[in-house]
Amino acid sequence: MYDVLIIGAGVTGASIARRLSRYKLNIAILEKENDVSMGASKANSAIIHGGYAESNKELRGRLCYPGRIEFKELDNELNFGFLENGSLVIAFDEDDENELKRLYQQGLENKLDDMEILNQKQLRELEPNISEKAISALYCKKAGVCSPYEYVIALVENAVDNGAKLFLKSEVTSIIKNEDSFKVTTGNGKVFQAKYVVNASGLNGAKVSKLISQTNFDIYPRSGEYLLMQKGSGSKLNTVVFQTPTKKSKGILVTRTYHNNLLLGPDAIDSEEIDADTHLERLGIIYRDAQKSVKDNVLNINEFIRSFAGLRPVSSTGDYIIENTNVDGFINVVGIQSPGITSSPAIAKMVEEILISCGIKLENDPYYNPYRRPIIKYKDLEDFNKIKYKVNYEFGNPDRLVCRCEQVSEKTIRDAMNRSIPCETVDALKRRSRAGMGFCQGSFCKKRVIEVMEDELGRKLESAETDIEHSGINRVIKKDILDYLKEKQEE
Ligand SMILES: Cc1cc2nc3c(=O)[nH]c(=O)nc-3n(C[C@H](O)[C@H](O)[C@H](O)COP(=O)(O)OP(=O)(O)OC[C@H]3O[C@@H](n4cnc5c(N)ncnc54)[C@H](O)[C@@H]3O)c2cc1C
Repeated sequence: MYDVLIIGAGVTGASIARRLSRYKLNIAILEKENDVSMGASKANSAIIHGGYAESNKELRGRLCYPGRIEFKELDNELNFGFLENGSLVIAFDEDDENELKRLYQQGLENKLDDMEILNQKQLRELEPNISEKAISALYCKKAGVCSPYEYVIALVENAVDNGAKLFLKSEVTSIIKNEDSFKVTTGNGKVFQAKYVVNASGLNGAKVSKLISQTNFDIYPRSGEYLLMQKGSGSKLNTVVFQTPTKKSKGILVTRTYHNNLLLGPDAIDSEEIDADTHLERLGIIYRDAQKSVKDNVLNINEFIRSFAGLRPVSSTGDYIIENTNVDGFINVVGIQSPGITSSPAIAKMVEEILISCGIKLENDPYYNPYRRPIIKYKDLEDFNKIKYKVNYEFGNPDRLVCRCEQVSEKTIRDAMNRSIPCETVDALKRRSRAGMGFCQGSFCKKRVIEVMEDELGRKLESAETDIEHSGINRVIKKDILDYLKEKQEE
């Protein structure tokens, strides 16, 4: 019998599992995909938001700042990658300036203590590459960027190291409440008994809730597309640069990622269907809009390496839904749209309180270890000409360079494969080691990665496991975007 069973290993389920793993509890995490962080938590802007963008009347507004201030300590413990580089919302005219004042006020209501409205001179000093047309900005000093899937991987690894059990490829299809426990069944026929069940299933939040409880909300996907530029391009900016928000999103941003790529996006399009494809027209608009934030020639489309889309799990209430349900002990933690990564530590604490109100007994586990060793650390690339001989080291040499673009060694790949989460796909390995994340997008290293993976696993990988693009998603590639923008220029 498990004490707590968590459905979904995105950032929400992972944070709850890690939080609860400090107590003497039997915890199970059930995830339908073959790795953790496969939903919204994989593809997003990765900003650790300030906490001024949502109103205090919403859970999203109340949980963002308390979540944000945990990140430094969390990164010290878990080593997933967090950079406190500050964020800006820039204004181009008087309307925008009024919006900055509104956001500043909202931030004060949310108890922020690190905001400042910068005049044009201060803005230029902080961000020399900002557009000449920007006249002022709201600066939030301790906002930042993280590596979101590495964060989820770290949370789950640490939870598992502290005793939680992770079940991948385990889609929950039925939940029944018996007298004082739940019987949870998965599509592959596994049956679990648990005293409490937490539904953190992202886009499937309403569907899973309906398996057992009265559900008067829906969850639908709101997609956002991005352009990602090559490593090193992120150094053109110091901070996360937003334009003023729209009703549906925090506005187009230009930022460095944690690993120093430049990231442009996202837009916000509601859709009925789950569609992670990217589209030329949408990317064209994002590129055009992003250019407004920075000086001419700061963005260079030739540095483009990849487009991707993320799907926000948006609830019909417009806010997070975090509550015990009419079936006592079945707790919904759904509709976790942006800023769900930032809020995640605070969401986990809130769920802990709900569990206490449901009657769970929490006793500290004296063996709890909050620390997790990193797989990779941030690194600037070395001059490839000086280390290229390492590409030709013999197979089995830990220092052999398997991936040239991101300079990933064989020992990093072997380390990633010998952790507490099974790692059996090229994509899963990519998220842990960055092999395949570089300029060539895996065309050089994919075969070499597979070779090491098969050696570790002692078997051949199946074709689905080597699908670096992940199950038929149509992504706009570099040639298409270059041709498209050229055509637009000529029009
Ligand atoms: C475009 C975009 C930009 C964003 N930008 C930011 C940002 O900058 N900062 C920020 O803080 N937040 C941001 N967010 C929000 C953030 O990504 C989400 O709030 C967060 O990832 C939601 O996490 P989750 O765990 O609730 O859902 P998910 O990550 O979707 O996880 C749900 C998991 O449940 C699994 N699952 C589903 N059904 C079942 C089932 N029946 N059985 C078992 N498992 C199941 C899924 O496979 C999935 O792994 C952004 C989101 C998007 C899409």
